[in-house]
Amino acid sequence: MLIHTFQFNHFYQNTYIITDPETQQSAVIDPGCFFDSEKQKLESYISDNNYTLNSILYTHCHLDHVFGAAFVYKTYPNIPIYGHKEEKAFIDNAIAQSIRYGISMEQPPGITNYVTEGSTIQIGNMTLYAIHVPGHSKGSLCYYYPTDNVLFSGDALFAGSIGRSDLPGGNHETLIENISTKLLALPGETIVYPGHGEPTTIQAEKESNPFLQN
Ligand SMILES: [Zn+2]
Ligand SMILES: [Zn+2]
Repeated sequence: MLIHTFQFNHFYQNTYIITDPETQQSAVIDPGCFFDSEKQKLESYISDNNYTLNSILYTHCHLDHVFGAAFVYKTYPNIPIYGHKEEKAFIDNAIAQSIRYGISMEQPPGITNYVTEGSTIQIGNMTLYAIHVPGHSKGSLCYYYPTDNVLFSGDALFAGSIGRSDLPGGNHETLIENISTKLLALPGETIVYPGHGEPTTIQAEKESNPFLQN
């Protein structure tokens, strides 16, 4: 798997482009491009490399993770959009929410393909597995690619921290429980690509994440 990281928008959100090197088939995980320059960067990266963007994956649908979804969907029409059904309310309320932040954005496209624990997603020859890790939001998903020991953790798990749980649908105990039982059970060498900040590993978080010591 080829992984390209963009840091986009006011919230320093990580937008990932993942590509199957054998077929050049690509997906975007959490299209957060907000400014025109950011949208152009994403589009140029795909076209300059002759990749085919064929899917959008939502880890969850907080504003900072869907700012660029309308742009991506317009640029690459009718591609499947994967996400958990519990995130639908965030999509439905995105415009109202953005007005509260004083930000103007386009209505993000809804999820076309509902995903839950254990669902598989095919990008070229790569098979990703969805892991449901609620607690930051009810429908938070992580996407796991065991072939390369890679996990996209959204806002559930960060390097040295975990997601906030004070937003609608959040629950601190649920988050800790799900991280502990589902994510820390993955091989230690698994590289974690979070929704914000630097990558880490499962082993490093097991050993030193202050929220996960007991
Ligand atoms: Zn979030
Ligand atoms: Zn976020």
